[in-house]
Amino acid sequence: MTENATYATFETSGGATIHRLPLEVFPNFWAYVYLVAMDDLRVLIDSGSGTEASHKNLLEGFDQAGIRPGDLTHILLTHAHIDHYGGLRQLKPLTNARIGVHELDAQTVAHHEARLALTARRIASFLADAGLAEETRDSLLDIYRFTKILYQSVPVDFTFESLGMNLGPFEMIHLPGHCPGHVAIRLHDYIFCGDMVVEGVIPHLAPESIYPHSGLDHYLDSLARFQRWTNGAWLILNGHNDAFTDLSARIEATRGNLVRRMRRALEALGEPLTAVEICRAIYGEAGGYNLLLILEKTGAYVEYLYEHGMIEIVNANEVEQGLPARYRRLLNEDALLSGIERKVNAYTSTQVNR
Ligand SMILES: [Zn+2]
Ligand SMILES: [Zn+2]
Repeated sequence: MTENATYATFETSGGATIHRLPLEVFPNFWAYVYLVAMDDLRVLIDSGSGTEASHKNLLEGFDQAGIRPGDLTHILLTHAHIDHYGGLRQLKPLTNARIGVHELDAQTVAHHEARLALTARRIASFLADAGLAEETRDSLLDIYRFTKILYQSVPVDFTFESLGMNLGPFEMIHLPGHCPGHVAIRLHDYIFCGDMVVEGVIPHLAPESIYPHSGLDHYLDSLARFQRWTNGAWLILNGHNDAFTDLSARIEATRGNLVRRMRRALEALGEPLTAVEICRAIYGEAGGYNLLLILEKTGAYVEYLYEHGMIEIVNANEVEQGLPARYRRLLNEDALLSGIERKVNAYTSTQVNR
């Protein structure tokens, strides 16, 4: 969100107090972290980005809540994206809180340099396969490395799995897709949902070829499991927007947005296109960090369409020589789109027992 984020407090049905702290995690981009006080527990959910402004806002929020970083018993991360875990670096020296994260995100938090090196290489290969010119590729990789350089590894004290997905009154569910180790956390009648559902847009997605356990398939499955898990009138607190209760409506809107993006891709795929060309057809022109984000999103859609047999690669010989793949749809767009709609909605009625 870019508008004014504000401090607020909430009381849960079980007697916990939740303080919502607004942080400017990047210039004009705000996030919320949540400080929970209950009995002897003082728990921080997410930590900001690690920029100077983010850390300053975090300390101001602690003051406002009347809690000191030294009082924290635990820090729980909804997922390892830089705007949610980057703040650990400055926070760590101020507290003995035990830091917990899902095991699929532990490498990013605790062994950051190696993870960064590996991921940068996978992104480089993804961008080359997508058909991006070498010069643009290099500049995007520089941008990627710069945003991550804010952080240095901080040890993880426990994973949520090791605790059986419970910590006292907090209950976690693993929701991979937006990020491999994304979780939502339930406390009484409140749910902290991280970036699982964000207002007005599809949360960021990237192909599994870059981040295993991410991608559209996982995300759609997680949306359905999240919807069932929240079954009831919960207040949802997320990473970037105001609290909301109408989760089902938000999830429907997200599914609708996804189908619209896929429609644009399929309309364009009557002729053979590289992923970069598909990206242009869906999103138009962009540059800088935004270009990297929309290319990753497009990569997730293309991966989904290809793996589900809706598009084909028309230049196998060129691909073998290391040239970018060109994709084309296998049926007319309306037939494919009704197939996608069926699939997206099938996630709501099947796979109930997972
Ligand atoms: Zn995120
Ligand atoms: Zn976020």
